[in-house]
Amino acid sequence: MDMKQINEHCYYFSSSVNIGYVHEGDQGLIIDAGIDQSAIRKVVRQLEDHHLPITHLFITHAHADHYGGASYLRKKYGVKIIAPEMESAILNYPILEPIYMFSGNEPIEELRNKFLEGPPIDVDEVVKEGRFLEDNFDLELIATPGHSYYQLCVATHGVLFAADTYFGKKEIEKHKIPYITCATKTIESLNKLLDYSFNGAVPGHGEYEENYKETVRYNIEYHRKLLHMIYEIVQASSTNISHEELVREMCVKRKVKADQLSMFLLFRTAVTSYLTYWIYRGDIVHSIQQFRWVFHIKEEG
Ligand SMILES: [Zn+2]
Repeated sequence: MDMKQINEHCYYFSSSVNIGYVHEGDQGLIIDAGIDQSAIRKVVRQLEDHHLPITHLFITHAHADHYGGASYLRKKYGVKIIAPEMESAILNYPILEPIYMFSGNEPIEELRNKFLEGPPIDVDEVVKEGRFLEDNFDLELIATPGHSYYQLCVATHGVLFAADTYFGKKEIEKHKIPYITCATKTIESLNKLLDYSFNGAVPGHGEYEENYKETVRYNIEYHRKLLHMIYEIVQASSTNISHEELVREMCVKRKVKADQLSMFLLFRTAVTSYLTYWIYRGDIVHSIQQFRWVFHIKEEG
């Protein structure tokens, strides 16, 4: 967990899940809290060594690797917690993630792990896209749904803390099928980031880059490649392909490793996101046949 200073006010702690920090006088805002107490403790130890204040916490989206350390931070420092609408509901009832991953069923015990569910936290202030001018901070909050429902990026002093809107090139390649909940919104959000100009950006997973727009474009191309793979699989199947078979074919094609239910469910959601992109457009149609959810390409004319 290396502390890296970006400019006079902005820092980030580089790790498999990055944590951001904004310093304003006697106040300091931590952006995301890492997966657990041990991750966030490495951050606070370094902030204390540098005599930097810890007063606020912003959670960009309710994924356990971004908020797992929040409850500790709240207990130890009494930080004011700020989070986007709806994401804050999940932070309040973190069992909602294992529930939605499990198609709404009461989750079985193995899904209640720290990668899907962190300790609950009470959010002090629920926020939406727009300018956040409060206490010592002047932040621009940018809505980037697609990876999570109401994810917000934080921009200040020319730096974009991009949450999981995009991944570093190495990181997206490593995921093979990156986790998203909606491919349409994911691509819209990436294009939206291209309309802004910041001095640099730090993603949730990856390194700070001044030339981040190239990485954002790389992400768009990556998602497009997966979208076409899905389309081709449906096109190549002589009969209606089932949802289960489609998930299997994508996972085989991308050579993902999913030997545990929680990993498998994450891939299943991501594959479904690429599939629904074509359903929203009307290019792939779906039906229920003999109790299977099946798909085929919409015929011309
Ligand atoms: Zn995430």
